[in-house]
Amino acid sequence: MRYLSANYIFPLHINPIKEGVVQISEKGEIVNIFESRTKAPKQKLEIFEGVLCPGFVNVHCHLELSHLKGLLLQKTGLVDFISKVPEKRNLEIDDIKRAIIDADSTMQKNGIVAVGDISNTNHSFFIKEESKIVYHTFVELFSVNKDKAEIVFNKGMDLLNNCPNPRSITPHATYSVSEKLFSLLKEKNNGEIVCIHNQETKSEDELFRNGSGELYEFIKQFGDLNQTGISALQTSLLQMSKQSKIILVHNTFTSKKDVKWTKENNYDTYWCTCPKANLYIENSLPDYSIFDTDTLCVGTDSLASNNSLSILEELKVLKENSDFDLNTLLKIACKNGAEALGFENLGTFEKGKIPGLNLINNLDSVSVIA
Ligand SMILES: [Zn+2]
Repeated sequence: MRYLSANYIFPLHINPIKEGVVQISEKGEIVNIFESRTKAPKQKLEIFEGVLCPGFVNVHCHLELSHLKGLLLQKTGLVDFISKVPEKRNLEIDDIKRAIIDADSTMQKNGIVAVGDISNTNHSFFIKEESKIVYHTFVELFSVNKDKAEIVFNKGMDLLNNCPNPRSITPHATYSVSEKLFSLLKEKNNGEIVCIHNQETKSEDELFRNGSGELYEFIKQFGDLNQTGISALQTSLLQMSKQSKIILVHNTFTSKKDVKWTKENNYDTYWCTCPKANLYIENSLPDYSIFDTDTLCVGTDSLASNNSLSILEELKVLKENSDFDLNTLLKIACKNGAEALGFENLGTFEKGKIPGLNLINNLDSVSVIA
């Protein structure tokens, strides 16, 4: 048994405790929480400078793009970014795998215990079998050509069947999936979690509302998207199953109205922000005041659009651009992410969980304690 204490502990299912103690078993299971150091055996007490919180959950990453670190220009906008990724993607498989191994071990060192990871290929599957991190893989499909919908869907199902669990199949973004492909994905869904890139650029809403704009001009060379007269968010949700939990990623240009609409229409959504990637690609951030802090979670996105895979680095940007206190920031980084991805054993210091244990000092550094 270990008895761990710090200036504050942040259990996240209850309020922070000044000089509280977390008792854990050898395998890291939470056995008990003490409100005071006097309740724990004195000779076994380990006291740290800083705060203790559960392991971080990175809700959105693309491990298979790790070899693209530093290769794509910053702040050039989403259309430029997505048009450059395919040409840069190809590299020797050994180099791709090496970058994936590095990315996985960096995340472990940064106190990340679980990841929601996007796969368009099988390149990252090997690490998901052996890593200490638990991964939920989203096999992600895109094609705006309706004649190719069945082929793309069937290929995706083959990939899904070879993918380590937990896993699910999911659309890439509202602007990159035809109505036909959306409907095949909906038909297949039996309540599994899905995720979708949402309103990452301003021209996404313009495409669906007016049938115009930079993204519209780019997409129309690959197929047709119907002008719906409503926002991109409403366009995609109306084509998805209400039975499943939906993780909306980015939401940089989401409006208060859209958030309200989602609630009123009873969608079970989590809002995943990737602040550093938003600054990297579009140099914009969401208005954090519009989201419910019980369903806001955070991701790093890939090394193609970020120079680090660190939840702490993302929290620093969040702190600077919101009025969230430390408890809220840590809830976003741990508890909400674990709920979004369905990892019931993670995210808080509730008895019986094995959530990992991070020590944070002034939001400057993180070390893994258990
Ligand atoms: Zn992404």
